[in-house]
Amino acid sequence: MDQRFLARRNDIRLLASVDGEEAAHFRLREFVNADGLAMVHPELLIALERVRRDLNAMAGETVWVIIKDAVRTNADLAKLAARLGWTDEGGVVSRDSMHLAKYGGIAVDLIAMIASGKHRVPQSTLGEVCRRYFDYVKDDYRDGHVHADLRGHL
Ligand SMILES: [Zn+2]
Repeated sequence: MDQRFLARRNDIRLLASVDGEEAAHFRLREFVNADGLAMVHPELLIALERVRRDLNAMAGETVWVIIKDAVRTNADLAKLAARLGWTDEGGVVSRDSMHLAKYGGIAVDLIAMIASGKHRVPQSTLGEVCRRYFDYVKDDYRDGHVHADLRGHL
């Protein structure tokens, strides 16, 4: 197998129409699970582009929005829960996670970085901007990521 050919899987720019302008700052590969499978709802992409746009405007320079995790299969979720625990057992992984494929690719875990200085946008700032465009945002995870989803659209 040609590994370089394989490495290009999901290397596809995702085009969104955002408030009358076309934006394409994300690639499908950013949303894949461990097996390379991806699912992205168009409304999720639009919300992410709006978050990116607002962060860039606030910073006055390029800010990277970095997807840490997106769609999950049931197996992905079980693996994560084995490490971090289910919420009903005191952990942080919900059994009814909005990351599950059955919800259509409406959830992401993300961080943001100022491109020039390579420093992180504070978790609370990213959370605040995400709340403008997502239905549910959780921004108190200890590793500094923010969870955002569109559960209100279901
Ligand atoms: Zn999450």
